[in-house]
Amino acid sequence: MKSVRVAVVGAGVVGLSTAVCIAEALPFCSVTVLAEKFSPDTTSDGAAGVLFPHTFPDISLERQRRWFKDSFDHLLAIAQSQHAPEAGVLLTSGWQIFKEVPEVKKPFWSDLVIGFRLLTQDEIVQRFPDHKLVQAFTTLKCECVTYLPWLEKRLRKAGGNMEQRKVGSLQEHEPQNLIVNCSGLGSKSLVGDDKVYPVRGQVLKMEAPWLKNFITESDGKTYIYPGIHSVTVGGTRQEGDWRLQADEGDREAMLARCSRLEPSLCKAKVLNEWVGLRPGRKSPRVERELMELQGRKVPVHNYGHGGLGVGFAWGTSLDALGLVKQCLHDVHPQAKL
Ligand SMILES: Cc1cc2nc3c(=O)[nH]c(=O)nc-3n(C[C@H](O)[C@H](O)[C@H](O)COP(=O)(O)OP(=O)(O)OC[C@H]3O[C@@H](n4cnc5c(N)ncnc54)[C@H](O)[C@@H]3O)c2cc1C
Repeated sequence: MKSVRVAVVGAGVVGLSTAVCIAEALPFCSVTVLAEKFSPDTTSDGAAGVLFPHTFPDISLERQRRWFKDSFDHLLAIAQSQHAPEAGVLLTSGWQIFKEVPEVKKPFWSDLVIGFRLLTQDEIVQRFPDHKLVQAFTTLKCECVTYLPWLEKRLRKAGGNMEQRKVGSLQEHEPQNLIVNCSGLGSKSLVGDDKVYPVRGQVLKMEAPWLKNFITESDGKTYIYPGIHSVTVGGTRQEGDWRLQADEGDREAMLARCSRLEPSLCKAKVLNEWVGLRPGRKSPRVERELMELQGRKVPVHNYGHGGLGVGFAWGTSLDALGLVKQCLHDVHPQAKL
């Protein structure tokens, strides 16, 4: 008998990961995902979904390491299991390349990915002559267009369900419901968070099965990510830009930059073009808000992952689960959580 009702707002990679974490860990909770859009129409669906982080300024490195490690371990276990093809998760190897030598050559995540090393000068001159430093490593790629439906199935198996609707306010729910806000960019209006802004990203999905290794420039604006059915070629990072239409100038510029790194792209066919708005924020908001709703304290927030949502979703969702347990403990101190 499910005695506590939990609503998770948002069905992107963060909302579905959070819903699965709660439904599987707390079987007495009835979990409902409320979302305006589901896969394949969320921002998460178009992301390349490659796992390697940058550093958020306002979150301790220890917490970011944990978020990344939890996400990496979770997805690695899937990639190495029989579920890999239907979950859309795979191992991928390649290079992050730098035009200038960065202050930190070995980032905090270098021991969390597989086989991290810096290329020797000879190797750099041969493969990336215009660059000064190259990090080589194996990481994971999580293709959300496949992974989100897989998470939906996993949620239903754990007794959760889904409802399509726009939520106007977190106050509109029954007081006994605990609400977890995973609405990404939607949090700008849903909870009036002015720190949230769009970071526009335009990418091409191309047919180039001969490309097997990823290449990404350290500024995050030029990348080639081979995947299961296509290669994601990008991109743009335009802050404050709400345009969802593809821009011809952006397309030409990104193709020119990527073709300099991988000349054979001129032989690749464009399969489709996609624009998404990353939920930009200086740092993600993963916390419990002490807001009184008819005597109860709600909600829990888990949003604002910017360009790293796929790579951090499972880790921040485990934190959100911990916060949900705290809330339930405050309401039912006798409950064994
Ligand atoms: C071009 C591009 C490439 C990217 N590449 C990578 C990458 O390689 N690696 C990586 O880690 N990340 C990448 N990202 C970032 C990643 O896509 C995001 O960080 C991630 O999708 C955020 O997930 P989310 O669940 O928070 O948001 P979303 O996927 O946007 O989901 C938000 C959900 O909330 C719902 N919602 C919002 N408001 C309401 C409301 N009021 N009522 C009901 N529902 C609501 C929406 O309908 C949706 O279901 C990329 C992004 C882009 C644009």
